Amino acid sequence: MADSRVAIVTGAARGIGAATAKRLAEDGFAVAVIDLDEKQCADTVSAIESGGGTALAVGCDVSDAGQVESAVDRIAAKLGGPTVLVNNAGVIRDNMLFKMSEDDWDTVMNVHLRGSFLMSRAVQKHMVEAKWGRIVNLSSTSALGNRGQANYSTAKAGLQGLTKTLAIELGKFGVTANAIAPGFIATDMTKATAERVGMDFEDFAKAAASQIPVARAGQPEDVANTVSFFVDERSGFVSGQVIYVAGGPKV
Ligand code: NAP
Repeated sequence: MADSRVAIVTGAARGIGAATAKRLAEDGFAVAVIDLDEKQCADTVSAIESGGGTALAVGCDVSDAGQVESAVDRIAAKLGGPTVLVNNAGVIRDNMLFKMSEDDWDTVMNVHLRGSFLMSRAVQKHMVEAKWGRIVNLSSTSALGNRGQANYSTAKAGLQGLTKTLAIELGKFGVTANAIAPGFIATDMTKATAERVGMDFEDFAKAAASQIPVARAGQPEDVANTVSFFVDERSGFVSGQVIYVAGGPKV
């Protein structure tokens, strides 16, 4: 285990990222809370601080190489070298293929794939130096294919390939890389999908739950708990894996 216990969670102003940042703080990490707008990170940071933890709000667009480099440098200077990275920042630009614009495609690729690549590249030096690290990438059940999500499902499948390659390249430095592929999780992202298909969110979540074996929608904490497992010191022999956190075996 590294001396410094510093974690970075991207897209942590809300949803799964916020729950993960809080959980890693409970697990004893100082947490850098990255999101597009630093001010939007205030709620997550104050929740961590009021629980006695340490957190730093960092505004950064993960798809911008310069912003990523300076964000990681700032985090290392303020909190210590980061040895845990959760690539969670994400966007959706859903549309059927014939209506999908190039911008819809590029935006999704840039945030999920380029963002996870840039963040991993910037943080790996601290992990290699510490001879310990944990990378967790947020994939999705959409990686298996989902109507209206050609861009998103491609990006989420790509993240599984990135995860396995990072596991192979970084393993000898004590670094594991794993992915979590959530099913339906109640957040602003699924609220936006409900809105797009013209459904009330409660009805939308109920309809989703009726297809899920454990008969409920997932919560951000369900994903945060799985992140906590991967990050645990005792999970060092688990690498290059994808766990579907979807309330059942099928999606
Ligand atoms: P969310 O509520 O929409 O939160 C995503 C966060 O990422 C937002 O705070 C957003 O900031 C931030 N973000 C977007 N682009 C960014 C960028 N370029 N740089 C930095 N931050 C950026 O989403 P969520 O539901 O918690 O999802 C979190 C992750 O889990 C995503 O990768 C998503 O694809 C994945 N996932 C979610 C579900 C689900 O059912 N919810 C299922 C499977 C996988 P702004 O608010 O400023 O845009």
